[in-house]
Amino acid sequence: MAWEKVVGQKRVIQTLNRTLISGRIAHAYLFYGPEGTGKRAVAFGLAAALQCAAQVDGMACGTCNSCRKAEKGIHPDIHVLLPTITDVSTSDLTARLQALAEDPYSTVDFQRRPSMDEAGGSTNKQVFYSVETVHESLRRVMSFHPVEGKYRVAVVIDADKMRTEAANAFLKLLEEPGGNTVFILTTDRVDHVIPTILSRCQKVRFEPLEIEDIAEALAQRELADGTTAAVLARMADGSLSRAIELASSDELPLVREEVLEFLRLSFQGRSDLVTAMVDKLATRGREHTKFLLMVALGIIRDLMLISDAGRTDLIVNIDQAATLAKFVKNLPDARISDMVEAVERTSYLIERNVNTRLTLISLSIVLRDAMHGKRSGGIMMDLAV
Ligand SMILES: [Zn+2]
Repeated sequence: MAWEKVVGQKRVIQTLNRTLISGRIAHAYLFYGPEGTGKRAVAFGLAAALQCAAQVDGMACGTCNSCRKAEKGIHPDIHVLLPTITDVSTSDLTARLQALAEDPYSTVDFQRRPSMDEAGGSTNKQVFYSVETVHESLRRVMSFHPVEGKYRVAVVIDADKMRTEAANAFLKLLEEPGGNTVFILTTDRVDHVIPTILSRCQKVRFEPLEIEDIAEALAQRELADGTTAAVLARMADGSLSRAIELASSDELPLVREEVLEFLRLSFQGRSDLVTAMVDKLATRGREHTKFLLMVALGIIRDLMLISDAGRTDLIVNIDQAATLAKFVKNLPDARISDMVEAVERTSYLIERNVNTRLTLISLSIVLRDAMHGKRSGGIMMDLAV
């Protein structure tokens, strides 16, 4: 069935099923909500259901010729578009679209994945839909009659990434009444879509995914199971894409160990060892430090849950429950909310390119004070350092 790749989002699917049964298909849909929640998976599902020759109860049959082509991402009447960098190669774009057809939750955008050969990273290059793309890849193909399906469907991923000229060209396209054309737009940033486009679309909101649904999806993909899947699912903040990225990186267990060691050394006031550790961390780059701080925040929030509410069942690092409970027991005077604030402040500063080494040493001192129940001045790092 067309929805089989969709994780969670039952309400959205029910709504779309009713639409398909009624046959009152809108000219344009806008799927919006946080990244990694399944907007693309549902868009592909809707596109397949629209084209299916044997649709039953608002669902694609999954077996007809049309469904098989849609599943492989080769249906001639389903066009999928991604915003690109200016010097994109056709083979690169094709590889990304293939990866998307296989797993709509994989991270394939040019912004967060400059190269398809390796996961992670980010680019400073501009990623957007050019006005030429809107004319060539959208207007032209959408003006023909369908080749073999009932509709011409365009899935426009990250539709917010259009500058004025491209957005205006796209708006013209939306304004043209096309009996058998359907546009499905997706965006993580609905506030960046121009109001005149917004008002022409039927809007469908996507909520963050449930932890259980993410954990199950990780297990199905054989990326993680059991407790590891539960930990990753809790860290992913409702985004399956984020969970997949975390699971595909082997860094997480190592980084968690580093965070716990950093907390221990800070508590003991071993400034020599803290300095040595920070020196090592600083050589691994800013992205690594950001990731480490994110993990640290998760761990400290867990300490807060255990300390304030006595709840080990709700914590993110569920597999470390015993270690964290012991940590809390040994720190009866700790000011854990000060610790959270210090890590958040450090992340903020690191984002703004302060000196990683000095900031982490300063963090260690604030954490030491907070763990000993002392109020301290906070992270006093000047932005100019
Ligand atoms: Zn079918």
